[in-house]
Amino acid sequence: MRGAVIHAPGDVRFETVDDAKILKPTDAVIRTAVTCVCGSDLWPYRGAEPTEQAHPMGHEYVGFVEEVGAEVTAFEPGQFVVGSFATSDNTCANCRNGFQSSCLNREFMSTCQAEYVRIPNAQGTLVATDGTPDEKFWPGLLAVSDVMGTGWWAAEAAEVRPGSTAVVVGDGAVGLCAVIAAKEMGAERIIVMSRHEPRQKLAREFGATDIVTERGEEGVARIKELTNGIGADSVLECVGTAQAMRQALHSARPGGGVGFVGVPHEVAVDGRELFFSHVGLRGGPAPVRRYLPDLIDRVLTGRIDPGKVFDLTLPLDQVAEGYRAMDERRAIKALLKP
Ligand SMILES: [Zn+2]
Ligand SMILES: [Zn+2]
Repeated sequence: MRGAVIHAPGDVRFETVDDAKILKPTDAVIRTAVTCVCGSDLWPYRGAEPTEQAHPMGHEYVGFVEEVGAEVTAFEPGQFVVGSFATSDNTCANCRNGFQSSCLNREFMSTCQAEYVRIPNAQGTLVATDGTPDEKFWPGLLAVSDVMGTGWWAAEAAEVRPGSTAVVVGDGAVGLCAVIAAKEMGAERIIVMSRHEPRQKLAREFGATDIVTERGEEGVARIKELTNGIGADSVLECVGTAQAMRQALHSARPGGGVGFVGVPHEVAVDGRELFFSHVGLRGGPAPVRRYLPDLIDRVLTGRIDPGKVFDLTLPLDQVAEGYRAMDERRAIKALLKP
């Protein structure tokens, strides 16, 4: 089979890779329906994370069950399934506490930009839809496997409440999905920090009420201006840089919450400053598995359409162009079709 392999920064190739197969009785193999490039794939692509040896890429997927291991009893070949980028048994203590992305048997997905994908912990990771959904829903369901689930977690971690004010830092796919989540959770005012017009437009379509184009301390000053000098109830940090985190922590009101879901790169939090800010801070990889049934339902009933974050669709064999387009910010997120 063929799949995407990163050889070095800026060098992603679509080439022959090892066939996806059942390695453990808890595995399944799916045939990819659609997959995509993630903003976090750009970290190694841009050299911000080292690539010591060539390896496959991709962690977002929806597909058709092709084969199941002996211990996978809940699924059968042909079913359409959605999973999380972090696999989980869904039975251990951390899973039962709702933090499946800290499952004791967790394995992160990393081979999804391919024609077939091995899914570890398949029984606890996958959720099947009722029949094969209309193809128009596939992008939305694909978004649920990571960016929509991650945006949801940002809103939950920042404790968005009905009637509250939420600030979203970051206008990538996760930030845009975080707007959807804040809106669904009842935020009355949703302020998005964004400098890119097409993304601002989509943010507004998803429910943003205000756009702040300033960054850093100027951006924080703008947020304060918009919140009577106090700061926002909830801030959803969806980038992962030191600047974004600083912006987030300084934009929250005393007693407010910051949810941080961008994978931190050189982010340091000053304990003393955090202490005196009275801000609650929570983050980490999103427990997407917990949200799957609910988010799948919201997509299939047309209540939310996170699939709109895909503004570029390419054949899977042109995956390298997907990386390029996202790196050059010509695309928000690239959808790949085998
Ligand atoms: Zn992702
Ligand atoms: Zn578990």
